[in-house]
Amino acid sequence: MGALMQEYIEEAERDLLHTYNRYPVVLDRGDGVYLYDIEGKRYLDFVAGIAVFALGYGNRAYNDALKGQIDKLIHTSNYYYNVPAVEAARHLKAVSGMDRVFFTNSGAEAVEGAIKAARKYAFLKDGKTDHEIIAMNHSFHGRTMGALSVTGNPHYREAFEPGIGNIRFAEMNDFDSVLSCVSDKTCAILLETVQGEGGIYPAQEEFLKKLRALCDERDILLILDEIQCGMGRTGYWFAWQKYGVKPDIMMTAKALGCGVPVGAFLMTEKVGAASLKAGDHGTTYGGNPLACAAVAKVLELFEQNHIVEHVREVSGYLEEKLDGLVSKYDFIQTRRGCGLMQGLVFDRPVGPVIQKALERGLILINAGTQIIRFVPPLVIGKEQVDEMIAILDGCLAEAFE
Ligand SMILES: *Cc1c(COP(=O)(O)O)cnc(C)c1O
Repeated sequence: MGALMQEYIEEAERDLLHTYNRYPVVLDRGDGVYLYDIEGKRYLDFVAGIAVFALGYGNRAYNDALKGQIDKLIHTSNYYYNVPAVEAARHLKAVSGMDRVFFTNSGAEAVEGAIKAARKYAFLKDGKTDHEIIAMNHSFHGRTMGALSVTGNPHYREAFEPGIGNIRFAEMNDFDSVLSCVSDKTCAILLETVQGEGGIYPAQEEFLKKLRALCDERDILLILDEIQCGMGRTGYWFAWQKYGVKPDIMMTAKALGCGVPVGAFLMTEKVGAASLKAGDHGTTYGGNPLACAAVAKVLELFEQNHIVEHVREVSGYLEEKLDGLVSKYDFIQTRRGCGLMQGLVFDRPVGPVIQKALERGLILINAGTQIIRFVPPLVIGKEQVDEMIAILDGCLAEAFE
């Protein structure tokens, strides 16, 4: 590493609150599925800013749309209408089949909104304020107090207790464990359709279908967190579409704006008509013209470039190549995932592999200590899968053998 990069890293460590153990690289610019650091070194990016930059870096149409909107109008407040928000919502409804959209600034904020909508829905039914939400162990929903309270990892929550309360945790893909948490107070069941941070665990079709039936029977709201697994990543616009299990409320963020900070929670008309009303919820920035111009353009480009179909095509190839590594190395136990959201499960910590890959110009990230996660830009091609596998294979051989 050169002196300049070293200097920036030292200054960052002095000035930024140390809430991340960062990798020793200062990134400067991107081009397609490659990133460059400030010393000009190139990296193949299999992280995409954690499942965010789906379109690849330097997408001309996307960049131009943002520049155009910056020159026109960046912000208005939600007391006035703006065209990009109307267009973004129209398009998002069309691809999700949901009926009402609320734009937020982040994923966690979308989770907060979903929790409030569910509580209000239940409150309007019986006037009580003791409703419970069932969430899953090993889940991740974000760092704000409400989102943290439904995150099924005690390590993230412990120092910040008490959370919002009235949350019960069940086991993912274990319907009986959900049933044992259900009571008359249950207002919602909340889960990621594919758990991300918790280790790339997809919800099973049968589990989701049973949850849907249970929710229908007892008028409980099914809330699906599609913040990481949505927006084409699994080869469907939203992962639940693969199973035909439609949620009452869903959240999206990460790839929604492809880097412009924006999220959304969406609901069916049933929930929209009987939950949050004027004065119940708000945000200064959420859904502002700049953020929504990004969303509208992202959705348009996804369609124009057939991104979802492309994910289905290329992900089969990625799976095949990752399975090859599982067969080759005893210390890799299995592969899990859907589409371009994959995890390789090791019998040991993967930190050394990720470090080595970085040195060799490949950006990877973990999901838990023993899993390498693959969430590349969705425009990745087979050649880049080959390039990634070749580098990773070399790192594996060196790190552990
Ligand atoms: C990243 C993530 C969040 C939180 O989103 P932020 O934008 O970081 O607040 C919530 N849920 C899931 C599944 C995520 O992957």
